[in-house]
Amino acid sequence: MKRAVVAGGSLAGLLAARVLHDFADEVVIIEPDTLPDTPLTRAGTPQANQFHVLLGLAQHLFGHWFPTLLPRLGAGPYPIEDCCMYLDGATRVAVPGDQLMPVPRPLLEFHVRAEVLALPKVRLVRDRVVGLTIGLGRVDGVRLASGAAVHGELVVDATGRASRLGDWLLRLDFQPPPKQRMDLDLGYATVLYHRYPDQRLDNLYAVHSLRSAGSAEPGVSVVAPSGPDRWICSVSAYGKQRPTKSLADFHARCEREPAAGFAALVHECEPASQVEVHRFPHSARRDFHQLRHFPAGVVPVGDAVASFNPVYGQGMPSAALHASALGAWLRSGDDVHAYFERLKVLVDAAWQTSALADFALPHVPGPRPKGYRVMQAVGTAIDQATTTDPLVAKRFIDVINMRQHPSALLRPDILARAARARIARG
Ligand SMILES: Cc1cc2nc3c(=O)[nH]c(=O)nc-3n(C[C@H](O)[C@H](O)[C@H](O)COP(=O)(O)OP(=O)(O)OC[C@H]3O[C@@H](n4cnc5c(N)ncnc54)[C@H](O)[C@@H]3O)c2cc1C
Repeated sequence: MKRAVVAGGSLAGLLAARVLHDFADEVVIIEPDTLPDTPLTRAGTPQANQFHVLLGLAQHLFGHWFPTLLPRLGAGPYPIEDCCMYLDGATRVAVPGDQLMPVPRPLLEFHVRAEVLALPKVRLVRDRVVGLTIGLGRVDGVRLASGAAVHGELVVDATGRASRLGDWLLRLDFQPPPKQRMDLDLGYATVLYHRYPDQRLDNLYAVHSLRSAGSAEPGVSVVAPSGPDRWICSVSAYGKQRPTKSLADFHARCEREPAAGFAALVHECEPASQVEVHRFPHSARRDFHQLRHFPAGVVPVGDAVASFNPVYGQGMPSAALHASALGAWLRSGDDVHAYFERLKVLVDAAWQTSALADFALPHVPGPRPKGYRVMQAVGTAIDQATTTDPLVAKRFIDVINMRQHPSALLRPDILARAARARIARG
């Protein structure tokens, strides 16, 4: 193809541009933000101040496209023996060989952007996409806020969870995709702390603590090094328990955290930032595969397709999988519905992990899917077995790192072990 146009210059757009570079004579990325020449959070990605982890699958795909990238992200990855994952204060069995990779999100985007913009056929335009252009029955470009248009054989929507693609399609007399949403009312708060070289907290480099839906204060807390001389610590909770901008509130949460590391952090280290909060009202997915009529020439990637509860860390690996699916689809020469079928498989898998667990949160409105109580009991038994059974812990880690499909946790060997662990607990 002569030209591909990517709307949105964050991670999903950059990964799509990297893939499109193999198919197009020119790739134009359109992004309204002035992109900083240092690793800074910018208006279009307000979530970047919060803790981000690069799951195993994402480490693999990012490493494939950008072989020298991961070592340049500063500290980590950390061998799992130096980290600890907790479930309601109980340690999960460590899985030898596994690695935890916390990444400062602005630094990751900064390096990926530098790699992508250095590609000979990629060009960046600073503008906002406000609509699509159509010619000969197919989308053939985008309209920009400046009044200009950029034409291309393929438009990729990577404008994130607030994507307006549905409105743009409506204006061309096509239906928008049906949207499923799950109200969560999740709040994140993050603080950086000073860290001296090689400092550990309770002898650990990184701690991930899940407080389950049945606990007094469900949510996730994480602490890990961020670059050479900082700790990053994020806490999250739902509804009325959402964290505030108060440092005293943040410290009180760290003190009552059932996992190791958090109380040590606030006793031993000085804050190096204010409290940055972020509200995440709902998870959402747009089911493009349900549309029968869709114009050729435009496809979505990343959060514009599906945006999951961020505590599961599925956003960047999903964006990478969408970019990979985009490449496979372009090689196949199939029509756009074949791409949407690929997206459905990927979104279903990630949604299964996050939405099923989130339905256990009492404040999340229903209706729950049929057979949900049984699924929840099985899920809880498997989760708890990760604190005692190495094989269950290994499979669990593979699934949450998106290296295996969630159905791998429902195989007979895992179910039998989870049942045995349940009986042993009494
Ligand atoms: C609190 C929080 C924590 C998270 N933690 C993790 C984690 O640990 N691990 C993980 O993998 N993921 C995590 N995520 C998700 C992750 O941040 C996103 O999945 C990732 O940034 C990819 O998103 P994206 O590129 O699709 O969209 P975004 O990052 O939202 O980027 C959208 C881009 O489109 C641009 N744009 C918007 N409108 C237009 C327009 N009209 N025209 C052109 N450009 C436009 C914006 O300026 C922006 O650059 C987290 C998210 C949140 C909210």
